Amino acid sequence: MRTRVDGAWVVGFADGGHRMLRNGCVVYEGERITYVGTDYRGGADRVIDATDSLVCPGFIDTHVHSGHRALHKLLTDGGRKDLFGQPYMDVTIARDGTKIQGYPNYLTSEEAKTDPGIALHAAFTVAELLRNGVTTFVELGGHVMVQQALWKQCEALGVRGYLGPGYDSGRWAADAEGKLRRQAYPDGGAHLFDAAVEFIRRVQEHGNDLVHGILVPREIENCSVDILRRTVQAARELGVPMATHAGYNVIEFYEVIREHGKTPIELLDSVGMLTPELNIGHANLISDSPRLNYSGGQDLKLMGENKVSISHCPINIVRRARVLDSWKKYREAGVNLTIGSDTYPRDMIMNMRTASYHGKVMSHDLTAASAAEVFEAATLGGAHSLGRTDIGRLAEGARADIITVKVERKDVLRYGPIWDPIRSLVECGVGDDVDTVITNGQVRMENGCIPGVDLGELRAAAQGFGEHVWANLQEWDPLKRTAHAMCRPSFCPDCD
Ligand SMILES: [Zn+2]
Repeated sequence: MRTRVDGAWVVGFADGGHRMLRNGCVVYEGERITYVGTDYRGGADRVIDATDSLVCPGFIDTHVHSGHRALHKLLTDGGRKDLFGQPYMDVTIARDGTKIQGYPNYLTSEEAKTDPGIALHAAFTVAELLRNGVTTFVELGGHVMVQQALWKQCEALGVRGYLGPGYDSGRWAADAEGKLRRQAYPDGGAHLFDAAVEFIRRVQEHGNDLVHGILVPREIENCSVDILRRTVQAARELGVPMATHAGYNVIEFYEVIREHGKTPIELLDSVGMLTPELNIGHANLISDSPRLNYSGGQDLKLMGENKVSISHCPINIVRRARVLDSWKKYREAGVNLTIGSDTYPRDMIMNMRTASYHGKVMSHDLTAASAAEVFEAATLGGAHSLGRTDIGRLAEGARADIITVKVERKDVLRYGPIWDPIRSLVECGVGDDVDTVITNGQVRMENGCIPGVDLGELRAAAQGFGEHVWANLQEWDPLKRTAHAMCRPSFCPDCD
């Protein structure tokens, strides 16, 4: 069957970059695009009319943690001062002897078996990504059972997932006074590493393009040199990309220097992990950042020379008063910039806008982090980080991962007159403007509706789960905070 998508604007691809076409079309047959241009003469079995829309490649979200993020909702405008704005340390580490609820990513295997939230988290996550026009995403290290649930949802809803059961050699724990400490596993994390490799092999044997494996040693400060070396070797053997969190946190930066005498980026370099196959979560707190007061570092140069990718998650970090020091310097150094949503909202359009505006401010240059650059990061950059030349672009032979964004919708004035649809998208758009999503040549969402998914029901289920989590926070929070003590709701009459 041959399908033609007619668009007011079509983001085509030629000579190594995106090229805008006015009144163009994209044609696909099966899973692949067969034509992109303005002069199509052949027939079509089906026509999708997007003549009021921008037609572009599906977004690639390179930093996702499964969940509805009810716990993270308690962090905005507050949180522990001693954790330097690092969300995961503040809400995902349970007090000794207790079990966290509402965030399954860091559960132990025993805890994961009985966790009631895993299926809901996965359903919510993949539906939210799809609703926002994400056709490919990377999950950064949730528990193997989380990956299992995501796998099911990826195949059910038709979103491409790079799934990586996270592993480490130990993890953060919290005592009854709320103090955090690093605690090593007796086997150095071998059981988790083996489970990750086993999962990836299963994915590869299954063999479809909707689910792929990725190796994710979760956070660098919790990974031994040995497990990082094994990661590099396994990535080569399995032919899969790698992702980790590094240069993401003041405490992590300091801990790694104290333990290894190297910055987190230098540590990655020393084990051979700094390669184009690596996506580093955040890498905003590196030796070059003036915020760390580190002298003589060369992290940016190392990352650029080795052509690594970073998943920049602008909304997630600026909300916690953190920032990428300079979009412009990273680009000039040769770092492949990609965009991730990390927490919430999983809206790549809002994330592009935040990346652009903060990129300008921090680069001290109004021409930096242009709409075109952030759009490239959300499409081509993400594809490059996964070693793929068949996604993130609309080109003959590429996967038919196509979205339409209703920039001329009749019920809003937000876009105003459109001179350049990419600038309008980045400046005035939101994820809900995405109308149709096609992945691997199949329509997965139409008119904002995902067949078989009731968004209202999903949100209500997440609300119910959230209420339960908020009511019980003190049961596992290291400081025994109640939800109101942790995050006073705005104008709350009960909190005086
Ligand atoms: Zn992350």
